[in-house]
Amino acid sequence: MAEEEARATRRCFACKRTFSAAPETVETVLIDPETGLPPGFTVLGTLRPAGPDAVARSADQPICPACLEKAARLWQTYNAPPPTWPSWPPPEN
Ligand SMILES: [Zn+2]
Repeated sequence: MAEEEARATRRCFACKRTFSAAPETVETVLIDPETGLPPGFTVLGTLRPAGPDAVARSADQPICPACLEKAARLWQTYNAPPPTWPSWPPPEN
């Protein structure tokens, strides 16, 4: 019973699906309700300094574990380690 009470149902900001999780494990992202983006982000995906009024009206929005996993996969795809080549002369063992 206590376990069920600890878990709360939330709506993912990214995919709009509902999910339940313990409140202390839910990842959140700060969203400005006026733009629907994190403060400081533009619709073009660029950054600008976030104004204090934008930060003040922003609120933490929950993100579901499936979207976090997708974001981690995308991050790994676009931030893959650089290719390496054998050096010359080959190391002597
Ligand atoms: Zn989601």
